[in-house]
Amino acid sequence: MTKINTLFFAILFFSISLIHAQDRTVEWDPELTEVWEPVPEVITPVVNGKLPSDAIILFDGENLDNWEMFSHDALRDPDAPDRTVRPAEWTVDHGAMTVVPGTGDIMTRQSFGDIQLHIEWRTPEKIVGEGQGRGNSGVFLQGLYEVQILDSYDNPTYPNGQAGSIYKQSIPLVNASLPPGEWQTYDIFYEAPVFRDDGSLVKPAFVTVIHNGVLIQHHVKIEGPIVFRGLPKYEKHPEKLPIRLQDHGDLVSFRNIWVRELR
Ligand code: MG
Repeated sequence: MTKINTLFFAILFFSISLIHAQDRTVEWDPELTEVWEPVPEVITPVVNGKLPSDAIILFDGENLDNWEMFSHDALRDPDAPDRTVRPAEWTVDHGAMTVVPGTGDIMTRQSFGDIQLHIEWRTPEKIVGEGQGRGNSGVFLQGLYEVQILDSYDNPTYPNGQAGSIYKQSIPLVNASLPPGEWQTYDIFYEAPVFRDDGSLVKPAFVTVIHNGVLIQHHVKIEGPIVFRGLPKYEKHPEKLPIRLQDHGDLVSFRNIWVRELR
């Protein structure tokens, strides 16, 4: 709040308290506290499996047209005209896309800032490996900030690396995992970080995650880009960046991915 605003409200509250001190019978006109602008845009909500009318479909089970192979160049400038774009090499079958281990991460062709993201994922029914080696993938918001995907059904690992963790930063409130082989949902609400021109941070990123209908990350502050070793540290990046899905060597599948831009 600016100094002028602070001063204005200080005078306003002082005046109100004076009025009340003089006359306890003063009552507010209810219309004084009615706010008529802005009027929320009318959209159709999520009903009978239909998406909200303002959703952008990222994967509808048909093809990977909205995706490409991940590259670090995209995080510097996703719109650079000379940037090399390689088509996504994961497979699409029976309405789902699946990691092809060894091909690498994929990312959306479109870039995003603040979003609501819906994504459904499934780890292999046949259990292979343990801990971090069992059904590992991840949703990297803006290509940098990972909401972990892991088969965390009866599969101990460090809790800040289990399903629904902000990897190595925030432990989920509960473990809402379904058994391997079952489809699971994340509904993610993400606020992008804001930087000054000199690269310093105005506001960190925040994230809320609902896993299979259960709140597991409640407006959690993200400390910086996810790192495997060491501590996270913010670096200025474009306001909008792609969403990235991780190839961690496991046959994790995805379906029904859509996003709403929050303005
Ligand atoms: Mg991962």
